[in-house]
Amino acid sequence: MATNGGSAIRGSRVGAGPMGEEDRGFKADRIVRNYYCVMGHVQSPAFASNVEIEELPVEIDCPNCGLPAGLDQANPPSNAKHEPYKTHLAYVKERRSELEAKQLLEEAIALIKAKRIAAAAAALAAEKLEKAAAKKSATKK
Ligand SMILES: [Zn+2]
Repeated sequence: MATNGGSAIRGSRVGAGPMGEEDRGFKADRIVRNYYCVMGHVQSPAFASNVEIEELPVEIDCPNCGLPAGLDQANPPSNAKHEPYKTHLAYVKERRSELEAKQLLEEAIALIKAKRIAAAAAALAAEKLEKAAAKKSATKK
């Protein structure tokens, strides 16, 4: 009885397709367009070439800064439809007036001063206790 010699299915597996690139499909033609934002970022998304040119977006949102990016490098869209990102300080200034800011700052400074004075007093008290304890142990001898 032959064990495995000449078996046709040896080395193959169920569902194995044809070898090579055939089952990967064809590579679709594509157009790459460059989009430029005011901040100088360039995006180069690819579009399927069978899409009409008129259907391709004229502007996209720059993924780096969120501003609109257009096709004209020399003249990127500047009329921001999105608000540009603000710094934390800009948001704080929106919520608080100069006077409020001054008051908050003074409160914070007063708090820190009080904490430091308390810490200094505590350190002084601890030092006194230590000295008293040292005196006691010295007189015990
Ligand atoms: Zn950008």
